[in-house]
This record gives sequence, structure tokens and C-alpha cells, in this order.
Amino acid sequence: MTHCSHTPGMIRLDQALERLLQACPDCLEVEFVPVTQALGRVLAEEVASPIAVPAYDNSAMDGYALRVADLAAGRRLPVAQWIPAGKNPEPLASGSVARVFTGAPIPPGADAVVMQERCVEADGMVELPEGIALGEHIRCAGEDVQVGDVVLQEGVRLRPQDLGMAASVGLAELPVRRRLKVALLTTGDELAQPGEALRPGQIYDSNGPMIAALLAQLGCECIGPRGLPDDAAATRAALAQAAEEADVIVTTGGVSVGEEDHIRPAVEALGSIDMWRVAIKPGKPFAFGRVGDTPLLGLPGNPSSSFVTFLILARPFLCRMQGRHAWAGPEFLLTAAFKHDRPDPKREEFLRARLTQGVVEIYPHQGSGVLSSAAWAHGLVRVAPGRKIQPRDVVPYIPLSHLLS
Ligand code: AMP
Ligand code: MG
Repeated sequence: MTHCSHTPGMIRLDQALERLLQACPDCLEVEFVPVTQALGRVLAEEVASPIAVPAYDNSAMDGYALRVADLAAGRRLPVAQWIPAGKNPEPLASGSVARVFTGAPIPPGADAVVMQERCVEADGMVELPEGIALGEHIRCAGEDVQVGDVVLQEGVRLRPQDLGMAASVGLAELPVRRRLKVALLTTGDELAQPGEALRPGQIYDSNGPMIAALLAQLGCECIGPRGLPDDAAATRAALAQAAEEADVIVTTGGVSVGEEDHIRPAVEALGSIDMWRVAIKPGKPFAFGRVGDTPLLGLPGNPSSSFVTFLILARPFLCRMQGRHAWAGPEFLLTAAFKHDRPDPKREEFLRARLTQGVVEIYPHQGSGVLSSAAWAHGLVRVAPGRKIQPRDVVPYIPLSHLLS
């Protein structure tokens, strides 16, 4: 990987992403967890069904199971069986019907179910309607899943419906990847913790809680946030400790060019900076490196930059480390209701945006220090370098909900 900490240029975003994914270490160990605790975990192996679902032909309705051919002799037939869901039926005696309920097994010999609303039952006999089709209202064995069908793909992050699927084929446990441990360090002598009184020159640490929450939403185990002073020795010590404790380190701030930016020199002292400065706005000073063998993602300090670079650069890397195969959400092509006439000539921009009544609006203040833009946004508009946008132009819109899962 190119050592580019002294290169003045920037890396194109697509190249930065490619490099990040190439540098991703092997997947985490596998563990088995109960299906009821597997929400949000990453499936380590594909799951094939050991059974057919449904396992037997069953009724889709409350009604009567019959043999269609029996109707040739007359439409009034005796009710010979009562089959609620969960019962194991007898074969259907010819010339009779069985009372069946939704989900009840179809008795051997029956080939249709008539819904009860179309029948009249009195004195143990049922008057059946005309026009009953073979197979009507029967849910056939295996119509949902056949034995051996792959019902869940390896590398998916398990959603509620995936857990339902696993349970429907009888699995009590699933093989998942161990949770990714991420050490989160915020930097800056100016940072005060929420709840403390602000002294002159201080600001509250917003990145700490925000990035910790983003990590939690991705299903990572977050160690921290820990606040670091702008001090070379303290930064080195904290990074060395974080590298011992975690699979990956995420930092915010201290990654720019000033004398008080201690992350890059500390990472270079303990490992390497493999990438720095990405052509993205907000967020140019994003850095990637290693502390010993532990990867480090250095997010910029400005809160909006930190938010965007986490979602666009750090998230794909973390998802890959978690063993996820698919994480990229769709970009929707939508109509702009805003003007963007001073684009950055070199950097891809991610404007904090919202979809309102079918058109996309952007927050009026897109400054990298303005966190209100991110709090207001429901999505990001991706703007190619140098692209001017007029109202009614079509723009790529990425819903935040995709990036937060
Ligand atoms: P830096 O990258 O450390 O130079 O920080 C850039 C800007 O982001 C400065 O205005 C910092 O005060 C601000 N900043 C850095 N870290 C945080 C944080 N954790 N929360 C809020 N603002 C921050
Ligand atoms: Mg700083």
C-alpha cells in the first residue's frame, strides 16, 4: 500500500474505498447463538433447511376437506372427521367430508377444501356448493421451502424476518461472527463532557456519543469513547492500549496538519499511515493506518465530517470486518428541489438532505462543523466533483436508514 502521508494530493473516494476493503483483515471467529438473540448479528455460514415447509399439505381456510370426485353422486355429504390445527388426521372415508381449520393437516385422500362460508352444515351433514376446483385452498407440502433449500445467505446481517425464517425450519441456534470490538478515541483539549460546565474555549464532545451510537447500530462492541488530550505521549499510549484491546481503532480529530494534531505522528510511530486525505467533502483529512496489526480509521474532528466519513468510508470497512457481504444501500435517482452552484472541483460531496413530497431538499448550511445538518437530514445527496445542480436536476440520494443498518 502506498505510503502517502507526505503526498500533498488527495485519493479519489472510489480508490480509497477499494484500498480500505483490500486492507481488511480476515473475518472474525464463529460462535453459535440462540435465534432469539441473533438479531443484528452476521451469519457466518449459509443456512439450508433440514425440512420442507410446510411439512405436510394443510388447509388454507376454515372449511371442509373433500374428494372432488365424490360430488358426482350428490352435494350433501356427512362430516366424518373433526381436524383442528395440530391434529394428525385419519384417511378420509370415501363419500364423506372432514371439518378442517386453517393450518390443519389435509386427511389422506382429500383433494380440495371448501371454505365454510360457502357451505351449510346441519345434523352432521354438509351442503356443498358447485364449482370446487381440485387442490383448492390446500397449501402443499414444500410450497414455501423444500428440504435443502438455502433459506439464509452467509454474510447477511440478521433481520427479524431472517430469524423468523430460521425458526420456521426448526433451527434453535445460528452460527454468527463474534462481535467486532472497536476502540473509540476522541481527541482535543477543548472537549468537555456533556453534563459538565463549559469553561472558556471548551466545546462539548459530540463525536464521542455520535460515533459510539453509529457503532452500536452496526452491531459493534464499542470500547469507549475515551477522550484524549492533544499530547503526543498520551496519544501514543492510548493508541497502543486500544490496539491491544480492540479489533479496530476509530479516532476523531487530531488527524489534520496542525501542530496539535497528534494522531498521524503517533500512528506512524507505532505502525503506519497507509492512506491519508480522501477527496470527499466534508471529511478530507480522513486517515487509515495500523497500530501494530490493528487497523485504525482516523475520522476528522468536525462533527459533520466525522458523521459522513464514518458512513461513507469507515462503515464499509467495518461491515467487511464483521463478515458482511452486502452492505451498500441503493442510491435513488430523485429530483432536486435545490441549487448547488459552487461545487467542489476535486472532491465528491455528500450534502445532508431530505426527501420531502417526492423531491430532495438540502440543509442550507452545509459547513463541516454544522452538526444541525446531519441531525436534520434523512439522507445524503452524492455530488460528483465539479457538478453543478439546478432545481429539477436528477441527483443520487442515499437514505440514511440504509447507512445506519
Ligand atoms: P481537529 O481535527 O482536531 O482539528 O478538529 C476539527 C474541529 O472539530 C475543531 O473545531 C474541533 O474543536 C472540532 N472537534 C474535534 N473533535 C470534536 C468532538 N469530539 N466533538 C465536537 N467537535 C470536535
Ligand atoms: Mg483537535
